Order: sequence, then structure tokens, then C-alpha cells
Amino acid sequence: MAFPCPSCGNPLGLTIEHIMKHDQMACPHCFAILSFKVKEETTKRMKKGLAEIEKIKKKYSNIAKFG
Ligand SMILES: [Zn+2]
Repeated sequence: MAFPCPSCGNPLGLTIEHIMKHDQMACPHCFAILSFKVKEETTKRMKKGLAEIEKIKKKYSNIAKFG
């Protein structure tokens, strides 16, 4: 599984094992510092936000239509 650099978009050639061992690394292409802990936190927050949107959609589904 390959992860692209969130800064420059180049493939990092990382494995899940590598991410589990290191929570921080520098991109070999643009040298941006990547923190996987922060990324995990962001993903959690995004999921929570999406769940909230789904709740709102359900609540108003009989009143208004979304998308
Ligand atoms: Zn990069």
C-alpha cells in the first residue's frame, strides 16, 4: 500500500509497518515533515464530522432533499 506525500503528492513508498514504527518522517521528495499521529487525529475528526452530516441529512430527509 502506497501513501502519497500530502505536501508534494509524490509516492512515499511506505508500508503500514513503517508507519506503525515511526510516527514522524521527512518526505524524500520535498522534505516536508510528516506526522502520522496528526494525520490520524485529522482522520478521526473528519469521520466525526461526516457522521454529523449524515445525522443532519437523516433528520431533514423528509423535509428537504440533499444532492
Ligand atoms: Zn513531499
